[in-house]
Parts: sequence; C-alpha cells; structure tokens
Amino acid sequence: MPELPEVETIRGDLAQAVVGRVITTVEWLDARIVRGDVGGADLAALMVGRQGAAVVRRGKFLVWRFTSGEGLLLHLGMSGRLTVGPGRGEAWPRHTHLVLALSSGDAVQLVDPRRFGRVTWLEPPAEGPGGMGPEPLSPRFTAARLGKILAGRRAPIKAVLLDQRRVAGLGNIYVDEALFRARLHPARAAGSLESREVASLHRAIRRVLREALADRGTTFLDYRDAHGQVGGHAARLGVYGRAGEPCRRCGAPIVRVVVAARGTHLCAHCQPSPLVSGLDAETNV
Ligand SMILES: [Zn+2]
Repeated sequence: MPELPEVETIRGDLAQAVVGRVITTVEWLDARIVRGDVGGADLAALMVGRQGAAVVRRGKFLVWRFTSGEGLLLHLGMSGRLTVGPGRGEAWPRHTHLVLALSSGDAVQLVDPRRFGRVTWLEPPAEGPGGMGPEPLSPRFTAARLGKILAGRRAPIKAVLLDQRRVAGLGNIYVDEALFRARLHPARAAGSLESREVASLHRAIRRVLREALADRGTTFLDYRDAHGQVGGHAARLGVYGRAGEPCRRCGAPIVRVVVAARGTHLCAHCQPSPLVSGLDAETNV
C-alpha cells in the first residue's frame, strides 16, 4: 500500500499536471469506486469544467482542490496507481477506474487491480478526512508529542504507529524500518518506551520518511509514481522484505514474524524481544 513517501511523491507529480488545468471531460468513471453522498453520474458531471487549484496530502489521502472551492478526495487503497499521461490514442490498461482529460491534453488515470482505491466529492473547504493524528514530517510532530501518543498504551508499538488516528501516513514498510533504526522490537508495549527510546524512534521515523521521499518511494509490486516510474528506496531498506538476508548492522538474519496481525520484519539481535529483555513486564505490571 502506498504510504506517506509514495503518496507525497504522487502528490507532487499530480500537482504539476493539474494545477491551473481544467478538467475537460470525464472519459471513464467506474461508479464502484465512488464514495460519499455524490454518486458516480453526478460526480462525473460535477468534475467537468473544474480548474485545479492545488493538490494536498493528508496521511495517505490526496485532495485535488479546485478553484471553485470543491475538491476530490483520492485514496489509492492497496494497489492503486494514479498516472498522468497523454489522454488520447492509447488503450486504457485493465482495471482503469477513472480517466479525466485535462485542458493540457494530458489525462489523469486511476488504475487499481484490487479496487480498494476510492474517490469522494468534497464540498468547500475540501479538507482531508478528520480524526487523523499528526503528520510525522510536520514541525508539530515533536518527540514530546510522540511520547504523549505512546504513553500509557499497552498495545504493541507497531499497532499504535500503524493507527492513522495516532500518526498519519505510516504503514507496514516505514513502521518496520523506523523500529529497526531505533532498535525497538515491534511487539514492545507502546507505553513501555523510555524517553530516550521515544526520542530515538521520533528521529528514526522522520529520517526514514525523508530518505524514502528523496528516493521517490519504495516499490515492491504495485507502486509507481504518476509518470509510471518505480520508487528507488527498496534497495536501501534495512528489514522490510529482507527475511533471511543479513542485517546491515550486525549480520544476523532478518526474520519475519507477525505483530499486530501484520507481517513484520526485524533483526532479533538489534531489536531484542520484550519477552526476553523483560522491558515489557517492568513497566506494565
Ligand atoms: Zn542486526
């Protein structure tokens, strides 16, 4: 699933293509991906003639804002791709759910084989979803703020970091990577972290996101940027997708376990288990 660095990369690409451009026609809209009060046929009619004002990201969501004040909320789900390219003369790929032709001659296409992506019409002021936690790259996301988010929680730290209500935009890849960098076992109770561990985790989250953004995201299977290119960060991952390969820090084999019902990659040497270290028990009884 695209996470913050991938969605932010697409945001930048999409903004370049649509800001100042007018949607001239809705060439295809699969009503099954439409959410909210405005249904598919109405949505198609509403979008025509709108001029792009900005594209903003909130967590893993994008909002394509129009100069008229309305907007389109986009979520790429598990496997969605949002691409920008020549609008005519090419067959749409399978699983195309949305094609919007632009005044530039380009078209924006949403292609999603697993169909978890969705679009929603937004009335002014066209904000992203509410109830989400802080953006981890914003100045407001301080180590103290992270400490407050984790404090008192007995849930595994991985589960808390994946919860979009606590921190926005993180998913399986970057949570595993941040915990590896901070040398924290994903099953540690969130509330068991000492302040130096919280500070280390805070640094690790921001660093891994910044590096992945610089690499234009991580591609395993589906993710492509809006020009159809893969992200470059996979080669630099420390643990995610590397089960059986040597830890880049200590050489021990990376293992895959299940934490918070998610496949989780870690180095058992660098990230000692709470059951062995007793850290969990110390702070939770
Ligand atoms: Zn290691």
